Amino acid sequence: MNELSSGLYFAPTGIAHLTHTNTDLVRAAAHGRTQLRVTTAAQLNGHPHLGTVTTILAVFALTARMADDLNMPATIIFDSLENAPAEHLTIHGRHYTRTVQDLIDHGHLDAHERTSGFRRLLTWASARSTIAWQERPYAVYQELLPVRTCLHAIAQRQDEFAPLLAPADGRIRVRPRCPRCHLVDKDAHDLTMSAGDREVLLDSVCPHHGPYRETIPIHGTSGWYDANTPVRSVQKVALLAAERDHYDACSISMDGPDWGGAWFSHVIAPALALLDIPAHDWPISLFTPMVLDRTGGKLSKSLYVKYGREYADLPPAFLDLDLLLDAYGEEALEALWQETTRWAAEPRRLHRCYTVDHLTTLLRPSHLGVPA
Ligand SMILES: [Zn+2]
Repeated sequence: MNELSSGLYFAPTGIAHLTHTNTDLVRAAAHGRTQLRVTTAAQLNGHPHLGTVTTILAVFALTARMADDLNMPATIIFDSLENAPAEHLTIHGRHYTRTVQDLIDHGHLDAHERTSGFRRLLTWASARSTIAWQERPYAVYQELLPVRTCLHAIAQRQDEFAPLLAPADGRIRVRPRCPRCHLVDKDAHDLTMSAGDREVLLDSVCPHHGPYRETIPIHGTSGWYDANTPVRSVQKVALLAAERDHYDACSISMDGPDWGGAWFSHVIAPALALLDIPAHDWPISLFTPMVLDRTGGKLSKSLYVKYGREYADLPPAFLDLDLLLDAYGEEALEALWQETTRWAAEPRRLHRCYTVDHLTTLLRPSHLGVPA
């Protein structure tokens, strides 16, 4: 597909000038390693929309391309975030939450409904790309030694990490939950975090049940804590750095573009330096193209739910993978897969954004005669 027939123009960009192929971005980090180990993540907060679908397909397409170019086996680790908030409560003017997993455990949410869309998509993409994937729940992630070691470092040096992790108010959001009712203090107003001998102590207060303490042993798996996105993503780069040696792997994170640019330069890169992780152990961070709404913002399911057609005149199927598959079948995934393999094949296609109208055009000829 050339520029004319795809309707796309490609403005010159810096990183596309620097690379001949996207694999050039991982070549040095992969040298001498026996495998590629790619991680990506998503909150289990419902049905994936078109932006999430294309991100996940792009992760598989890029991984397949790099595995092929480097002649290395590859595995994709899908961090499924069942710790995402699913219930929000305001008590005495403060914001409390309960997690997706808590609501599933207590019968208020259906586990299948929360996860089936993602599993269906991952299974399809894995079969299409022949790249294996594994799911890693947050409950497992937060137990891992490098993740807890990083938490301990943050607890020990809160004054140094707070400007990176909480630049607005200095409150680092690590969140234990009340042992009796599982309420989480979302903004960590009542949190006192302290680093003990090979453990982190999290003291908080439940509005119903009073003070409690959660003890997180660094070398154990007991205890549980939630952490907000900056804390969790700093822990993730520490984990991926450790996994280079643990798995003799080239560790790569691939995520949506929210986590590149300003996020990477203000949160992740300075945190890697604070953690004293040498540059040759830094994981590779790659970012998939952003899918834009018609105003140039990131395509947002929550904005669509809030404003409807005023926000984006899209078939509802674009906001819900199950509807997309019901209406257009797996040929819709195949059309998007073909597009993301083009992104994987050419730097100029990877390092740019795409409008939702472009993706609509890809689907329309054979699949979108009648909007769902
Ligand atoms: Zn409580």
